[in-house]
Amino acid sequence: MTDDGAFRMMAVRTTDTVRSVLRAQGLDVGTPEARLLGEMVTGAILFRETMSPTLRVQGVLKGAAGSGTLIADSHPDGWSRGLVQRRPEAPSFRLGAGAVLQMMRSLPNGELHQGVVEADERGFDDALMGYMQLSEQIETVVRCAVIVEDGELKAAGGYLVQLLPEAPDREAAVMILAQRLEDDFDDIRGRLVATDASPDHLIEEVFYGMPYTPLGDSEVRAGCDCSHVRILAGLSTLGPDDLQEMVDAGAPLEIGCDWCGAEYRVEVEALRHLLTSS
Ligand SMILES: [Zn+2]
Repeated sequence: MTDDGAFRMMAVRTTDTVRSVLRAQGLDVGTPEARLLGEMVTGAILFRETMSPTLRVQGVLKGAAGSGTLIADSHPDGWSRGLVQRRPEAPSFRLGAGAVLQMMRSLPNGELHQGVVEADERGFDDALMGYMQLSEQIETVVRCAVIVEDGELKAAGGYLVQLLPEAPDREAAVMILAQRLEDDFDDIRGRLVATDASPDHLIEEVFYGMPYTPLGDSEVRAGCDCSHVRILAGLSTLGPDDLQEMVDAGAPLEIGCDWCGAEYRVEVEALRHLLTSS
């Protein structure tokens, strides 16, 4: 935060996290949905750290014309995950007319705060900025980037700058920083590649000449909260007829997590147990 209380900034390096998420989803890193999903994972982390660092958040990007849905989760323990939902015959994922971004975060009382904004061709960043403005009423600049060169993920990361309501000399401060962000930090791809997506670099450069105090940092990584217990809990919601059918089939179930790709095996004995306890 700048010492005059005018701005707060978060920056994140997500190169390894995004690489793991894209690999778990079996995505070719050069596709538009891979880039967008990487940006969403990055944006979800920045959004959570800004709005609800101790609670989980989810972003859902519904593409135009039935081109699919991208989902990014960020958890307070530091892990994030992503998911692509697309029918095999769906057209290439794209934004534009009909596409929307939905952001959801849990509130301390357990309720869900959510809002939906249009997601036009300008991209994920602009949709997220629109959401922050409309639904959270906070002036925010967000830039997330995933850089792929020669078919390889080179770097991923981003930043988020907020104008704080108690800024003393709002107008002057906003003009100075808005100009700087527009001139030098609109496209951060070159910086991310050159600095290994260093968050320190982004913060030092954006706040150059402005006294500021680092308030904290936290680790991010790819992860998931799937487990054998959760798989069993999911199966227990099936009706007795379905469970009986699985027991009669006589073979263990192989179930994979759609998010992280982890494989779970449920033995017939466990299915029988679910049946008798249902
Ligand atoms: Zn999982």
